[in-house]
Amino acid sequence: MNCDNPNFDAFDHGHLWHPYTSMKDPLPTYKVRSAEGVRITLADGTELIEGMSSWWCALHGYRNPVLDEAVRRQLGQMSHVMFGGLTHEPAIELGKLLLQIVPPSMTRIFYADSGSVAVEVAMKMAVQYQVARGNAQRTNFVTITSGYHGDTWNAMSVCDPVTGMHSLFGPSLPVRHFVPTPQSRFDGAWDPDDIIPLRQTIERHADQLAALILEPVVQGAGGMRFYHPQYLREAAGLCRRHGLLLIFDEIATGFGRTGKLFAWEHAGVQPDIMCIGKALTGGYMTLSAVLTGDEVALTISSAPPHAFMHGPTFMANPLACAVALASTKLLLSRPWQQKVKAIETQLREQLAPARRLPGIRDVRVLGAIGAIEAERPVDMARIQRRLVEEGIWLRPFGRLVYTMPQYIISPEDLTRLTSAMVKIAGEL
Ligand SMILES: *Cc1c(COP(=O)(O)O)cnc(C)c1O
Repeated sequence: MNCDNPNFDAFDHGHLWHPYTSMKDPLPTYKVRSAEGVRITLADGTELIEGMSSWWCALHGYRNPVLDEAVRRQLGQMSHVMFGGLTHEPAIELGKLLLQIVPPSMTRIFYADSGSVAVEVAMKMAVQYQVARGNAQRTNFVTITSGYHGDTWNAMSVCDPVTGMHSLFGPSLPVRHFVPTPQSRFDGAWDPDDIIPLRQTIERHADQLAALILEPVVQGAGGMRFYHPQYLREAAGLCRRHGLLLIFDEIATGFGRTGKLFAWEHAGVQPDIMCIGKALTGGYMTLSAVLTGDEVALTISSAPPHAFMHGPTFMANPLACAVALASTKLLLSRPWQQKVKAIETQLREQLAPARRLPGIRDVRVLGAIGAIEAERPVDMARIQRRLVEEGIWLRPFGRLVYTMPQYIISPEDLTRLTSAMVKIAGEL
């Protein structure tokens, strides 16, 4: 990358922080001119097939006419009004639709700005619930390793203690209870020993624990691991027996990504609190939601201060709600299950050859998620450049080269994606 390259921008390089990057020696960034369908067009006209759904959010393609129209229509009404004391159609209609597709026990919705904020809200809800029940000492959390829940303070505190940022932030982070993530694979046999560490930790520390928080079935940014649904059934039983709330972070797994509309369906376990985000707006703008049932909502409201104490400035932003409503309706109106199944089948067939390559530890596929795991961390800058040369946009991390394609991707484009992935896996 240099200044003659139209995909390089000197101002960006010198002044704009990108996710997890150095200001001294930043990884290269590629300037995008536009995006349509599953294609990103770079400043120099290079077209890339997008295999990331823009960090797992875009489901229906860029510049989707239905979503564009929903935003335009809402702009003609109002782009924003405060949610304190006011309400509006987009928030109400979105809420009605969400309650039809989340676990039946969910009856109350708190709209928040991003996934991390949703996790903060969920954790505050759990603590306020315990306090309202007279358990003022139940303020801590238990979780499993290899998780990812976001980058704000409390979200960070329940991310994997090794790959998360615990060593960096040290004692400024609240100390949570971690148990080893289950080893039983999603498609393998259930090993009953997997639940022992969680049982022991809950038995020992229940009187300090407000909740168990985890990503059901699929651990995303913590390592793309797919674990056995039986773990969730056992974990739910332990939570009920010992008075902990169960929080599912479905920010990455929601809206069909794992083959079910939400991942709790794989286990049939309904959480007490659930976070959704990412694909909620079809990748158009930031919005998340925290859902809970009557028990949590009414208990919180029955003790001083008789209110749930959170209220973001842009809560239930009408533009975001309008596009979330349009995106979710569009998803439900299409045979998304068949589409995700077809993507899964194709990923399974076409990524399998990578398993035989030297330096490759594992190949995993579930729903519209395909991951190739190497033995060693991948050289991000080099692999990113190679993928762009192959006409592909993917963002490897750690030891993983993975894809979460948009559901509208054609079989031909998906073949180009997987061929490039297998080819690159041979060069790791
Ligand atoms: C991405 C993600 C978050 C954080 O969402 P942001 O919108 O980036 O704050 C939280 N939990 C999970 C499971 C995620 O994948």
